[in-house]
Amino acid sequence: MPSVERYVYSFGNGRADGSAAMRDILGGKGAGLAEMANLGLPVPPGFTISAKLCITYLEQGTFPDELREEVERHLKQLERATKKGFGDPKNPLLVSVRSGAAVSMPGMMETILNLGLNDETVQGLIAHSKNPRFAYDSYRRLVLMYGDVVFDLGKEPFEEVLAEAKARRKVKRDIDLPPEELQELVREFKAIIQSRTGLPFPDDPDSQLWGAIEAVFKSWRTKRAMDYRRVNGIPDDLGTAVNIVTMVYGNMGDDCGTGVAFTRDCRTGERVLNGDVLTNAQGEDVVSGARTPEPISRMKRGKGGRGGLGGLAKVYRDLERLATKLEKHFKDVQDIEFTFEHGKLYMLQTRRAQRTGIAAVRIAVEMVAERLISEEEAVQRVPPQDLDQLFHPMVDPRAPVTVLAKGLPASPGAATGEVVFDADEAEALKKKGRDVILVRPETSPEDFHGIVAARAVLTARGGMTSHAAVVARGMGKTCVVGAKDLDVDPAAGRFRANGRAVKRGQVITVDGTSGRVILGAAKLVTPKIGVHFAKLMAWADARRRLRVRANADVPADARRAREFGAEGIGLCRTEHMFFEGDRITTMREMIVASDEAGRRRALAKLLPIQRADFEGIFEAMAGLPVTIRLLDPPLHEFLPHSGADTGALAKRLKVPAAQLERIVHSLVEANPMLGHRGCRLGITYPEITEMQARAIFEAACRIVARGKKVTVEVMVPLVADVRELVHQTQIIRRVAQDVFQAEGRAVPYLVGTMIELPRAALTADEIAKEAEFFSFGTNDLTQTTFGLSRDDAGRFLPFYVDRGILSEDPFQVLDQAGVGKLIQLAVRLGRQARHDLKVGICGEHGGEPSSVKFCHHVGMNYVSCSPFRVPIARLAAAQAALEEAGVINRTRATV
Ligand code: PEP
Ligand code: MG
Repeated sequence: MPSVERYVYSFGNGRADGSAAMRDILGGKGAGLAEMANLGLPVPPGFTISAKLCITYLEQGTFPDELREEVERHLKQLERATKKGFGDPKNPLLVSVRSGAAVSMPGMMETILNLGLNDETVQGLIAHSKNPRFAYDSYRRLVLMYGDVVFDLGKEPFEEVLAEAKARRKVKRDIDLPPEELQELVREFKAIIQSRTGLPFPDDPDSQLWGAIEAVFKSWRTKRAMDYRRVNGIPDDLGTAVNIVTMVYGNMGDDCGTGVAFTRDCRTGERVLNGDVLTNAQGEDVVSGARTPEPISRMKRGKGGRGGLGGLAKVYRDLERLATKLEKHFKDVQDIEFTFEHGKLYMLQTRRAQRTGIAAVRIAVEMVAERLISEEEAVQRVPPQDLDQLFHPMVDPRAPVTVLAKGLPASPGAATGEVVFDADEAEALKKKGRDVILVRPETSPEDFHGIVAARAVLTARGGMTSHAAVVARGMGKTCVVGAKDLDVDPAAGRFRANGRAVKRGQVITVDGTSGRVILGAAKLVTPKIGVHFAKLMAWADARRRLRVRANADVPADARRAREFGAEGIGLCRTEHMFFEGDRITTMREMIVASDEAGRRRALAKLLPIQRADFEGIFEAMAGLPVTIRLLDPPLHEFLPHSGADTGALAKRLKVPAAQLERIVHSLVEANPMLGHRGCRLGITYPEITEMQARAIFEAACRIVARGKKVTVEVMVPLVADVRELVHQTQIIRRVAQDVFQAEGRAVPYLVGTMIELPRAALTADEIAKEAEFFSFGTNDLTQTTFGLSRDDAGRFLPFYVDRGILSEDPFQVLDQAGVGKLIQLAVRLGRQARHDLKVGICGEHGGEPSSVKFCHHVGMNYVSCSPFRVPIARLAAAQAALEEAGVINRTRATV
C-alpha cells in the first residue's frame, strides 16, 4: 500500500474527510456517516479506518505503524471535540466500534459499544451521569459484546447468566435490574471470558480498542460471511471498514432511546415515516428482540407513562425533519438508525432501504412526481424480478409459518389447499369446489389435467425447466419443483419432509416465490396493481428496443399475455393442445397406428380440433405475430404409463391389450430428450407436419375471411442440419399452396426454426439460407451444451450452486460464457447469410432479467416468455437500453 494513501477518515461537527461517493474505502456505514456530517446533521464525531486495510491486515497479520499513529491522532481529536479522555477515570470518552462493508451484508454487522470502560472509568461515568444503573448497564454490555465479537464466545453464555439474574431479582426487563446486580454481571461476564479462553478481559482502553479493530477485520473471513458473499455474488476482496464513533447514550433514562426509521413504508411504498423505537435502551436491543419496540409514530403523540413515549414529540419532529432532508439528498428511501440522549437526537446510520416490489414501483413513480428523480431513473430503480410480486398472492411476511421443505421457486405466488397425489383426484376434488395441491415425485404430460385443476404443484424432483415447472409457469400457477427433502409416496397417500409426515387431505401452503413448502394454511395477501405500475411500464416501453412476446398455447393464455403487454406469441407449443380431455386418446390412436393410413385417420380427427385452437389464438392476438411450433416432444410422452391406462386404451381402439403393450414398449427410448422428437418426428411421419401446417393455414384463411388480420410464423423444432429444415419447409410450403388455392386467398407467412442444438448454432449460416427467422430454444440449448438433463438436473445442480462451481442454475439464468457464446455466434452467422433475419428467444430465459439484457446486447429482435413474466421482460429490456445509452442510475452513487 503506497504511503501517500491515508488509512483513517474523520467525521463530525459539520464536516468529514470522506463522502457518500467513497463507499469502497469507507464502507456503506462510514460513507453514510461522512455524508450526514457534511450535510450538517447531528452525527457523533468519529472516524473510519479504510476497508482497503482489511485485506492487507488479513494477508499480513499486522497493521502498518502509520495506522497506529493515525488512530492515536484521531482519538486525540475526539478527546478535544468531546472534552473527555479515552481512559480518563474522571471523565471517560467511550466509543463504539462497528464494521461496515461497501455492500450491505445484513446480519454480518459486528458491533461493540461502550469501549473505554473499566473498573476505574466506570466511576467517572457514574460521577458525570449521576446514574450508576446506566453506567453499569453500559459496562456489562461492553463485556458481553467483547466476549461475543473479540473472544468469539457467542452471546449465549452471557445471556444465560443475565436470565438467571433477572429470575433472581424477579424482573422481566434488563432495564429493571438494579446497579448492584449489573455490577455483579460485569464480574460474572469477565469470569466467563477468563474461564473459557484463559485470557482476561482487557481493562486497558487501548487494548480494548485494538482488539476490537482486529476482530472486525477478522470477521470478514468468518465462514458465515464468506458463505453470505458467495451466495450473493459479493467479491471477497472488498474488505470491511471499521467505524469508531463517540458514544451517545440511549440507556440513560426514559428521555433517552434508540430506534430504526424508514422514510417511506417499504412494504406498500406509502410516503409515511415509520419504524421502531425503544426508550432507555442501546442499539442492539431494537433488533435482538429482547424487548418489544414501539412504533415511532407513538412518539408524535407524546403519550405514555414510565418507560413509555411521553415527552418525545420534539425528538419525533427532529427525526422527521432530518429524515426528509436525507431522502431529498439521496433521492431514495432511507433506512436510518438513531439514538436520542436526554431528548437530543443523533443520527448513527443511513442507507438505501430494502423494499418489496410493490413498494419499489410506487416509490419510483411518486419520486418522479415529486421531481426527485427522472423517468429514466425510475425505470432503472425497480429490479425487474420484483414485479413478480405484483401479480400473485403471497405469504404474509409478518405471519409465522412452519416450513416443511424448500425447493426451486418454479412459478411464483402462493396457494393453500389439500394435498393430493393423483391428477384424477385433483380434478375430481376441484369439481367439488375444493382447493387442492398436487404433490408428485415428478410430473409427466399425463398429469396435465391435475395441474390445471390444482391451486399449486409441488414435486420432489425436476429442475426449473422440468415439465411441471414449464406447464405451471405458462398457466401462472404456483409451483415448487425439486424439493429434495420431500419423500413422496403416492401409493401410501403421504409424503415425508424433515421428520414430519403429511397425509392426503392435509392442508399445506406452497410458496412459489420463495420455494417454501409450509405446513397448514399460511396467511396470504394479494397485492393491488394500480396506476403506479401502468405509469412505470409506459415509461419502460417508450425506452426499450427489444420487442416482448409471450409463450402461450391456448387462447386464454394468449389473452392474458396481451393484458400483460405481450406484442405477439413467440412460442405456441402445439403439443400442449393434445393433452386436454378426449384429445389425448386420438393422439394415442395416431401414435400406436401401425401404418401411415392409420396415422392419417387419426390425424384427420385431430385436424379440426387443432384448427379451432389456432383460430382462437389468432383471434386473441388480433394481427400480432404468432409463432406456431410443430410437434416437438418424444411420442411416448403421450402414451399411457400404467397397465390400467393401457387396458382402457386397448378397449377403445379395439386392439388386444397385449398387442398395445408391445407397441407402447417399442416406443420407449433410453434417452427420449435426445431421441425421436422435434423435426425428427415430422421427417419420419411427414403426415404429422402436413396436418399441422394445414390446420395453421386453414385457420389463418378463416380469420382473414372474417376481415381480421393475422401474422403467421411456422417454426420447426430441434433442427441440427439445414437439410432437416429444407425437408420440413417443403412440406409446409406445399400445404400452404394447397390451402390457399382451395380457399381462394393467400396469407403471408414465415417459416423459421428453433436454434436449440449446438450444431444448429455452429452451422447457423447454412440454416439461415433456409430459415426466415431464428428462435433460440435455450432450454434445450442449455441442456445440450452442458450435456445436462433438464429433467434430472434439479437433483444435483443445487450442490453445484452451493459450492460455487456454477454461480447460477443455467436453466434459470442464461450461461452467457458458454451457451451465450453459441447464441452470439449463431446470430452473427445467421445475419451474415440473411441480413434481415428476425431473431428471438423462447426458452425460459426470455423472462429472466439478466438474460433479457444479454438478448438486447446480442441484437435480438424480441424475447418471448410466459405471460406473467412479460412485464419483467419489458422492464429489463428498457433497463438494457438505458444502460447502453449510458443513463446511469444515480442510486448507485449513493448510500
Ligand atoms: C427450448 O428448448 O428452449 C424451448 C423453448 O422448447 P421446449 O422447452 O418446449 O423444449
Ligand atoms: Mg426445446
